[in-house]
Amino acid sequence: MSEPIKTLPLVFEEPKGRGKPPRHLADLNAAERKQLVADLGLPGFRARQLSTHYFGRLVDDPGEMTDLPAGQRETLVAGLLPSLMTPLRTLEADAGTTRKTLWRLFDGALVESVLMRYPGRVTMCVSSQAGCGMACPFCATGQGGLQRNMSTAEIVEQVVAGARALARGTVPGGPGRVSNVVFMGMGEPMANYRAVIGAVRRLTDPTPDGLGMSARGITVSTVGLVPRINQLATEGIPVTLALSLHAPDDELRDDLVPINTRWKVHEAVEAAANYAHTTGRRVSIEYAMMRGINDQAWRADLLADVLHEYDAPADGRRAPWGWVHVNLIPLNPTPGSKWTASDPADEHEFVRRLEARGIPTTVRDTRGSDIDGACGQLAAVE
Ligand code: SAH
Repeated sequence: MSEPIKTLPLVFEEPKGRGKPPRHLADLNAAERKQLVADLGLPGFRARQLSTHYFGRLVDDPGEMTDLPAGQRETLVAGLLPSLMTPLRTLEADAGTTRKTLWRLFDGALVESVLMRYPGRVTMCVSSQAGCGMACPFCATGQGGLQRNMSTAEIVEQVVAGARALARGTVPGGPGRVSNVVFMGMGEPMANYRAVIGAVRRLTDPTPDGLGMSARGITVSTVGLVPRINQLATEGIPVTLALSLHAPDDELRDDLVPINTRWKVHEAVEAAANYAHTTGRRVSIEYAMMRGINDQAWRADLLADVLHEYDAPADGRRAPWGWVHVNLIPLNPTPGSKWTASDPADEHEFVRRLEARGIPTTVRDTRGSDIDGACGQLAAVE
C-alpha cells in the first residue's frame, strides 16, 4: 500500500477574488512614473517633483506640494499618491523608542509594523503579507493563515511612515532616519517575491527615486523557499539573508517549520550558503529557543556540524571567511502556544557550544514583547 499523501496547510498562491491595492508611485520605477504622468496628460518632470515630495521630503499633505500647479495637483495625487493605509493604533514601549503600528489596508486587511530605535540606528520591521501561509505553530501570525500579498507600495509605505515620524522628531531621541529595514513582520517575503524585490529596490534607489538606503541595512528573512533564495542571489542587490532554521534535523523541523516537508534542512542551508558565497554577505541563521524542544546541547553540536558542511562553496573554492552566524531568539509568548522560552542556562550552553565550534552567535533582544510587537507576536487584531 502506498503512503497517504500529506496535505499541507501551506499557501503559495494569493487567494483570489479581492481587488488590487491602488497603484502608487512607490510601485513604479522612475521611468514608469514618468510614463504614467505622461499618460495622465501632464509633463513628465512632474513625476520627479512628486517623487521628491514622497521619498525626499517625506510630505504626505498635498497642500505642501506648492511647486505643483493647483490645477494639476489633484490629478497627480489621485494618480500617483493615493492613500494606501490608515493607522488604527500605535502601541509604545521602551519610553517610546519601540512603536508598533496597526494598519488597515484599502480592503480592510490588517497588518503591523514595528519601529525600534537603538543608540545609533533605527530599525523598521515591516510586513510583506497580510497574514502568513507558512503555518509555523509557534508564531502568532502563522495561526491566522494568509489573507493576501501586499503590494510594493504598501510595503514601502510602512518604512516611509516610520521615516516621517523620525524626521518630524515625534520619536524620542530627536530627529532621525531609518537605517535598517528587516522583512520580519507578518508574512513570508519569499512567497511575495516580486513585490518584496520591488520594495527593496525602492528602499535602495537613490533619492528622489527611492529612499536611498544601503542594501546592507536591509534583511530579508525566510522560512527557506529554496528556489527564491537562489533567485535572490542573482538579483545583484546585496541584502542580508536570514534563514529561519529553528532545528538542525528534519524530524523536528518538519513540525516547527512545515515548509520543511518540501525543502529539507540540508537544501535550505545549502541555498543559504550559496547565497553567502555568491554575494559575499554573511547569512544569519535564526533559531527560536524553545524549552525542551530544540535547545538541547546535542542539537547545538548538530547545528554546528550542518553549518560547517557548507564552509566551502560547491565549486570547490575554499571560503576564507565565516559565511554564517547564528542569531538565537528567546521564544516570545503567543496565545495558546504550548512552548516557552529556554532556561537561561541551556541558552548559555547552546551559545557556548556553537562558539566553541567557531560559529559567531548572538542572542536577539526581546524588544517589543510587552506590546506583542516582538518576533512571532504580530497578529494584527483590532
Ligand atoms: N516568514 C519569515 C519572516 C518572519 S521573521 C520567516 O519566517 O523568516 C520572524 C522571525 O521570528 C522568524 O525567524 C520566525 O521564525 C521567528 N518567530 C516566529 N514566532 C516566534 C516566537 N514566538 N518567538 C520568537 N521568534 C519567533
